Amino acid sequence: MSYDLIIIGAGTAGISAYTAAKRQTDNLLIINDGPWDTTCARVGCMPSKVLIASANQYHDAKNLSKVGIQAELQADLSGVLPRVREYRDRFTSGMQKTVDGWKAEHKINGKARFINHNTVEVNGQQYQAKAFIIAVGTTPRPNDEWQQAIGDRLLTTDTIFELEQLPSSIAVIGSGAISTELALALNQLGVETTVFSRGKNIANATSPKIQELINTALQPQLNVLFETTPESFELKDNQVQVHFNQGDEKKSIAVDYVLNATGRVSLLDGLALDQIDPSYDDIKSLPINEYTKQLADRPIFIVGDAHTTTPVQHEASNEGKIAVKNVFSYPEVKQGKDLAPLSIVFSSPEIALVGQSYQQLKDNNIDFEVGFASYESQGRATVLGKNVGGIEVYVDKASQVFLGAEIFVTDGEHLAHLLAWILNQKPTISDILSQPFYHPTLEEGVRTAFRDVKYKLKSS
Ligand SMILES: Cc1cc2nc3c(=O)[nH]c(=O)nc-3n(C[C@H](O)[C@H](O)[C@H](O)COP(=O)(O)OP(=O)(O)OC[C@H]3O[C@@H](n4cnc5c(N)ncnc54)[C@H](O)[C@@H]3O)c2cc1C
Repeated sequence: MSYDLIIIGAGTAGISAYTAAKRQTDNLLIINDGPWDTTCARVGCMPSKVLIASANQYHDAKNLSKVGIQAELQADLSGVLPRVREYRDRFTSGMQKTVDGWKAEHKINGKARFINHNTVEVNGQQYQAKAFIIAVGTTPRPNDEWQQAIGDRLLTTDTIFELEQLPSSIAVIGSGAISTELALALNQLGVETTVFSRGKNIANATSPKIQELINTALQPQLNVLFETTPESFELKDNQVQVHFNQGDEKKSIAVDYVLNATGRVSLLDGLALDQIDPSYDDIKSLPINEYTKQLADRPIFIVGDAHTTTPVQHEASNEGKIAVKNVFSYPEVKQGKDLAPLSIVFSSPEIALVGQSYQQLKDNNIDFEVGFASYESQGRATVLGKNVGGIEVYVDKASQVFLGAEIFVTDGEHLAHLLAWILNQKPTISDILSQPFYHPTLEEGVRTAFRDVKYKLKSS
């Protein structure tokens, strides 16, 4: 059987590709290994945000004195994780319903692997296609040694939401975006956290100033041990002993669970891509065009988290659609990846990156100026009792065009969207400062940052 298109992987990117491809042809197949309800809905974006919602509201309730209210809080947190699962199930059943509505002959359960450039094998059967969209996603980085030492006390983002109850304590290994979100939520819910960070940073900001604000605000809450990695784990007295070195000193802590949040690995490895071309045996050096996601000059497109510098849901979805356009216009292939870069960490305050980051601008030798606004005494943030952090905006020195921003402020997700939405219009400082800014709002801090750049550019 030969198809116009075979899509491998039915997560966010694969489902988006299938939905677009169905409008072009009925001669298509989508193959998926495991559940069809997406990483995002099942173990990613959605359950984590449900947990964070409970954590943020509990945290606010515990801090009512900040807004002049003395209250005694009696909290029963036993419903938090069941609520995560209840809402997770709503989101996954929505995805499942969509997939159930697809024609049975369009979908196959199983793990695909390539036999040659136009053939894949699934469950011992071979299927051919003129084109492929590969959307196999990622999985938590496994660590067999840790697993052997502590068994089911070692959690990943695939298993943490299955805990019956919140633990008393947890060691989180890794301090990236996902670990920061989860560690902070657990900490706000009263779980004693210790975060092991290989480097000196929390989450993904690249600006030294914004990073310093993040570290100052979050390190004490999360108890982050910078430049420290665990040496070994052992089970003792019904707890996990985490052994580590700090300087010359050997130390240990006892925790209920360990969350391995050291990153995710691509599932491209399981596809036997070297059967297409022997040079594709190293998935780290595949010849994939960053903007079209095309593999060399072949009718093969690799989309979503499987191979990306933007491992976020909306990019995966967009890449799935673009790949379908390119499959059906092949060999004419257009660049389509043109969304303004946007990433958000749902910490409190939120961390967000828009457009080009500070480090990217430096790496690309762009001559830019930085505008800064502190939110420590920003009007609206102070009124809300959430006056922490700040925002940096980056502007091209010659053209005065806005290039990017790094944000660490309460409700930063909204400021980040506003800035991302205007970025592709290439506004100058004057364009932005001529917009209305209602008083008192968090948006006024954005104006302060742009005024700061304007002032710096005038005086330079
Ligand atoms: C804890 C967590 C929180 C997150 N929070 C956010 C957030 O708030 N916002 C955001 O934008 N993003 C977030 N993300 C990232 C987001 O979930 C991903 O960007 C998105 O799920 C990527 O979708 P995908 O289609 O590339 O992969 P997936 O959804 O993982 O789909 C890949 C599919 O391919 C299947 N597959 C793998 N190998 C094969 C094979 N050989 N044959 C057939 N099928 C195969 C897999 O089983 C899977 O079903 C989060 C991720 C995590 C883990």
